[in-house]
Amino acid sequence: MKRWNGWGNLDTEYPVSLSALDYLTKRLGKLDPIPDAAKETVLSAVPESRLPAHPLVDISAQERLMHARGQSMHDWVDMRYGRVSTFPDGVAFPRAGEDVRILLKYAKDAGAQVIPYGGGTSVVGHITPCPTDKPVLSLSLEKMTRMLDLDETSRVADFQAGAAGPQLEEQLKSRGYTLGHFPQSFEYSTLGGWIVTRSSGQQSYRYGKIESLFAGGLIETPRGQLEIKPVPASAAGMDIREMVLGSEGRLGVVTQAKVRVRRLPEAEAFFGTFFPSWDQGSDAVREIVQNELPVSMLRLSNPLETETTLILSGKSWVGMADRSLRMIGYGDTRCLLIFGVTGSRKLFNRTRRDVASVCRRYGGLVVGTIVGHTWEKSRFLSPYLRNTLWEKGIAIDTLETALPWTQVHEASRSIPRSIVEAMAKHNERVLAFSHLSHVYRDGASIYTTYLFRRTPDPDELLSRWHDMKHNASLTLQKYGGTISHQHGVGMDHAQYLPAEKGALGMDAMRAVVRSFDPDEMMNPGKLLK
Ligand SMILES: Cc1cc2nc3c(=O)[nH]c(=O)nc-3n(C[C@H](O)[C@H](O)[C@H](O)COP(=O)(O)OP(=O)(O)OC[C@H]3O[C@@H](n4cnc5c(N)ncnc54)[C@H](O)[C@@H]3O)c2cc1C
Repeated sequence: MKRWNGWGNLDTEYPVSLSALDYLTKRLGKLDPIPDAAKETVLSAVPESRLPAHPLVDISAQERLMHARGQSMHDWVDMRYGRVSTFPDGVAFPRAGEDVRILLKYAKDAGAQVIPYGGGTSVVGHITPCPTDKPVLSLSLEKMTRMLDLDETSRVADFQAGAAGPQLEEQLKSRGYTLGHFPQSFEYSTLGGWIVTRSSGQQSYRYGKIESLFAGGLIETPRGQLEIKPVPASAAGMDIREMVLGSEGRLGVVTQAKVRVRRLPEAEAFFGTFFPSWDQGSDAVREIVQNELPVSMLRLSNPLETETTLILSGKSWVGMADRSLRMIGYGDTRCLLIFGVTGSRKLFNRTRRDVASVCRRYGGLVVGTIVGHTWEKSRFLSPYLRNTLWEKGIAIDTLETALPWTQVHEASRSIPRSIVEAMAKHNERVLAFSHLSHVYRDGASIYTTYLFRRTPDPDELLSRWHDMKHNASLTLQKYGGTISHQHGVGMDHAQYLPAEKGALGMDAMRAVVRSFDPDEMMNPGKLLK
């Protein structure tokens, strides 16, 4: 069963060892577990529904609570401290595009706002209802998960847009194919959600971001159905497909999506390499990318992330690896690179050798598959750590950007530093670290994680979080970074968007939204303020 106030299902745990807790206590200070609000208390706050009855709409308090929040820091605080003040008035579970059309008409007649709901994994406030006098309908795609067609000649699969990662990959795998889109939220996030938030999977280097996988589909908008025909490329004027990408539920509901798929790879493995410094590691990564070696993934952690993640992994080989590195001259600092090789057997061996040789030239020690295998096994499990640490008294959040290689060295130091400086003003410590998560020939995405102590007062916690987030957002913008490489805008990033798009760009985006949704019924308050 899905958790109502955290990540994932209730049966899965990510335990943390006593030595890892000791490490975190030394870094952050004494930890104070703060009890969560009881589910019954939050359920009792669900008000009367303002929606008229409809056979496809569930107005039970249970469903309205389960669709009230996503995974942003505000969402977590609301749920865990029991101060949820806005709920959808009902949750609809359509089974087909026709149902979605009926529901949009119903919402329009009822003067309701509609929030399309995929997996509810948004980390920036995409699905949180804003306070409003109007009724709010959450439109969940959880019953729309089928593969409708697979064109093996063109290698395009047609899916209902509510398919979550495992549902989508299982259907493709049974036919020998894969989409290859593996965000860390894979377990719950959905195809429709990926498209409208411009999501990126962990192996986007091989498979591409969702922008290159999404070929076309059907979108039910308040003004009718929009069909995007899947063509391999087009010069027919402006690209409507691009308008749907990143639309964050503001244009309508993606009901079907055609995606470009590949044959399952013959071979795949993930390898670890330790570098003595960040600069050596990131220069090696840049060379691998710019020499176009066909890896499937490159993920380089800075020294603090390397140290913290190895300790939190709780693996017995971590101590031994540390001693071995010291014996060959490594000091306290090391940066872990995980690289993935995926594809045909022939290419696999050659790529592995070529990447290892670049790494060695930059002083890296390639340690084989043990570290990579550990990462692979926990790649979709690590979000459960957020539950465990929260219950011990630690809040975790992440932020991310992408910027040119000329800025990568400086920005990767300055972003975590800006978080530490913001927290110092509260006389608090924070553990902030980064990794290069997605790499391109012209730049890279920097993904930053920060851990800090919770406070008994939720407003105090949010005020600290806001200061860290704001300082980091201004810092990454100062280096020319985008406010988001993969999480999208939602509510949390909306204030930073004008600096990136400019006044004319913002006007153009507003005009596009208005042309599909003149009455502003689709997910207002998100993406554009
Ligand atoms: C632990 C964790 C790890 C994550 N890792 C990654 C990662 O590696 N890469 C990454 O890109 N993101 C990641 N995310 C962020 C999140 O998973 C993505 O933004 C994801 O694309 C959201 O998909 P969803 O189906 O859960 O959408 P939701 O959260 O349900 O909705 C997000 C937005 O999409 C809209 N929407 C959803 N479905 C539709 C539809 N069918 N039609 C129209 N609008 C729709 C909603 O209205 C909302 O505006 C992570 C989040 C968490 C919590």
